Amino acid sequence: RVDLEALLRAMLSDFVPRARQKNIDFGLETTGSPLVIDGNPVLLGELLKNLIDNAIKYTPEGGCVTVRTIATERAIVEVEDTGIGVPDTDRERVFERFYRVLGSSESGSGLGLPIVREIAELHRAKVSLIPNPCGKGTIAQVVFPRSRGALDDANALDLQAPRSTAEQFPPG
Ligand code: ATP
Ligand code: MG
Repeated sequence: RVDLEALLRAMLSDFVPRARQKNIDFGLETTGSPLVIDGNPVLLGELLKNLIDNAIKYTPEGGCVTVRTIATERAIVEVEDTGIGVPDTDRERVFERFYRVLGSSESGSGLGLPIVREIAELHRAKVSLIPNPCGKGTIAQVVFPRSRGALDDANALDLQAPRSTAEQFPPG
């Protein structure tokens, strides 16, 4: 069992210096209840790190990166950015090994997203890049099935009326 929210909290501070350096507004939005799935915490950590790394890397100075958890009958993690976006024609291809969108001035090997997808599949999760509805940037969305136990644990009230809290990283 892995609590995705706890896993995120434990890793977000590692990204704070980079976000600060680019003057990126870095936030976490959660429902306030544990988001528990069956899985491997080391692999899930790699998955989340790769998505957050991309969000910060491909977002120019002064943008926003928001990591969000959503609890429905699925467990959802979104990493939203206001960055350069992914062209429609590349939206699936970026999950191929070594594929990088042409013209990016950032360096990388094009292996992050293939690893993300492989880890997602091991957890029966779906990962996709969605154009940010704000008109700029990307939402990397990972949708996990909830384990039976997690559903049993879930507070019915929370599921019906999820509370949402937003906070800055680091706190204060
Ligand atoms: P690395 O292996 O270090 O992760 P990478 O970031 O180039 O290198 P991927 O993470 O696989 O490789 O991403 C593939 C490509 O998809 C990137 O090169 C970039 O063109 C595009 N991309 C990924 N995430 C985003 C994002 N959040 N915004 C814009 N483009 C993105
Ligand atoms: Mg990457």
